Amino acid sequence: MKVIEVVLPVPLNKSFYYTIPETLQKQEIKYRRVNVDFGNRNLTGYAISVIENYQQQENIKLKDINTIIDEVEILTDEIVALSKWLSETYLCSIGEALATIVPISLQVPKRISKVKHSKNEIFNPNFDMTVYQKNAVEQIEHSIKNNINDNFLIHGVTGSGKTEVYLKSIQTAIDNNKSAIFLLPEISLTPQFISILKKRFGNIVALWHSGVTTIQKYKIFNAIQNGEIKIVVGARSAIFLPFTNLGLIIIDEEHENTYKQNNKPSYDAKEIALWRANYNNSVAVFGSATPSIETYYNTLTKKYKLLEMPYRIDKKDMPSIKMISLKEIKLTVSVFSKPMFLAIKRALARREQVIIFLNRRGFSPSIICKECDTVVQCPNCSVAMVYHKYPEHLECHYCGKQFNFPLKCPTCGNKEYKVLGVATQRVEEDLKKLFPHTKIFRLDRDTATSKKVYTDVYEGIKSEEYSILLGTQMVTKGFDFPRVSLVCVVDADTSLYLPDFRSSERTFQLITQVAGRCGRADIKGKVLVQTKYPQNYALAFAQQYNYKSFYEQEIEYRKDLSYPPFCNIAKITIRNKDNNKTLEFAEKVYKFLEEQLDSTNYKISLLGPAQSYILKLNGTFRWQIILKGQRKEIKEILEKVTTLKLPYETFINIELDPSDLL
Ligand code: ADP
Ligand code: ZN
Repeated sequence: MKVIEVVLPVPLNKSFYYTIPETLQKQEIKYRRVNVDFGNRNLTGYAISVIENYQQQENIKLKDINTIIDEVEILTDEIVALSKWLSETYLCSIGEALATIVPISLQVPKRISKVKHSKNEIFNPNFDMTVYQKNAVEQIEHSIKNNINDNFLIHGVTGSGKTEVYLKSIQTAIDNNKSAIFLLPEISLTPQFISILKKRFGNIVALWHSGVTTIQKYKIFNAIQNGEIKIVVGARSAIFLPFTNLGLIIIDEEHENTYKQNNKPSYDAKEIALWRANYNNSVAVFGSATPSIETYYNTLTKKYKLLEMPYRIDKKDMPSIKMISLKEIKLTVSVFSKPMFLAIKRALARREQVIIFLNRRGFSPSIICKECDTVVQCPNCSVAMVYHKYPEHLECHYCGKQFNFPLKCPTCGNKEYKVLGVATQRVEEDLKKLFPHTKIFRLDRDTATSKKVYTDVYEGIKSEEYSILLGTQMVTKGFDFPRVSLVCVVDADTSLYLPDFRSSERTFQLITQVAGRCGRADIKGKVLVQTKYPQNYALAFAQQYNYKSFYEQEIEYRKDLSYPPFCNIAKITIRNKDNNKTLEFAEKVYKFLEEQLDSTNYKISLLGPAQSYILKLNGTFRWQIILKGQRKEIKEILEKVTTLKLPYETFINIELDPSDLL
């Protein structure tokens, strides 16, 4: 009997078999999405094979599939193999893995139009590459041309010209009839890179991120499979696109945690890149001025080849970084210390541009009642409500809950408050007072309400319509604006003392990256950093652009306290609306883990249960257990955890090698 093997996005790691109704006998089914009945539900699944001689088991009556969704194949052999690997690696079923790789939501358009191939005027740069660029390009080129599976790390300081190396490498892939995936950590960067890539490669380039419509995504899928699209620039999920001749995968700003997915399956795009490069005998290139500790470690163990680009183009100086200690200075007039204010004033007088960074949106991170000192808390989360002034309201940045303002103090009924701390709207307000004739672009999640904003900011700064770019971490990465001469960090301490083993690393990266946004062309750059902790080693090493010393100190600490790369980590989070029940079950899971470990000789250490950094989130309490050990052993133990019966309304989330332990 002929049946279809279907995998479904349910947490059961097995295939399900369906028969083909008379009406669909003539259609191709393999590697397409199908709609089937499953229990009393109606689900979309993936037809991964057609079995001609299925041995029917007695008394099991197979159901017919309902419909075939896709006319053309949307899976490839590689993608199916990848889904199996994902399932083995990240504790999910093959169906769940495929739902991550090829979204169920992909919508078949009525008509698929061909990508128009106009004759582009292909732009090429009018400069010669530096010796470092040449060396990097030669090595990458060699591997691509000869189908050698190599992984490279480009460790290049900000402004060393990494983009040109990526572009030349993509060119090599295209010239050798291969395709390329180019990942960026942040949507705000896509206009800059799409613009560069389209100029260089024309219409074979497509953009892929969460803002692209499901119909558009289907068209891209199609254009990739029939070879009309050869290059995709995109966010994390672009790593799964079904190219059949993938020659090159680039991951820019590889240290960013956006390459890691937090929810199930908690995959890491860098690991997927390595897998696909290996499968295709092709090349993965990671690039950063501040490589993650794990990645740099992998270059020392020769897992990756290191390509260094230690100087800026033309050996331009790195911008000087100056710490302004807020221990001694009290800020009373504005959020800017006097030296910071004066530096902005001078830069503007010289008609240069300024980037101002503060990693908090809103007006002030909390407010406190003038009468009784109550801090207004979110009713659903154990965090303070953030005060927004434009438009005026209170907002929880974790669950989105909003209150009108003014509001009566929940404790004493008074209506007057003091604001505590500063956020981007406050900085903007001060800037407007201090520099009333200057045009300011504020870029944070409140202003970036549509895709168009990212194009507006890129063009607005590039054309010098705006003199000041102010914003959250969106302004710190990847931008290449030649007229920016000054970078101001309003408060460097926001990430410094978070209870997480990566908090120093994040601070080092953040300061180095944002500093790298200025002095990139002819004008000298200068960076001012306001902090209460100017002696902190992450800040001090960032100030000297001393990556290697920072790495050495950090790796020492990782080794002493046993953190990655010296072990793998898993984070189990248990949630319930009742705090006691959460803790109770967390303790049960902990005991269960202990018992499991007793019967093995695995070297796994268990930590917890401990409250998550934010105990209550969206009305649910969260406790966590941390496992440290070897990936394989951890995974084996965790598979047993997934079989535990969960009490009513208790949920469990397992993350392998999470980006943080908060
Ligand atoms: P990075 O990504 O390393 O921070 P970019 O790739 O953005 O640096 O390069 C910085 C600037 O230098 C860009 O405007 C780029 O066009 C320019 N550039 C790159 N390579 C060269 C070169 N060899 N000579 C002159 N300018 C270059
Ligand atoms: Zn909340």
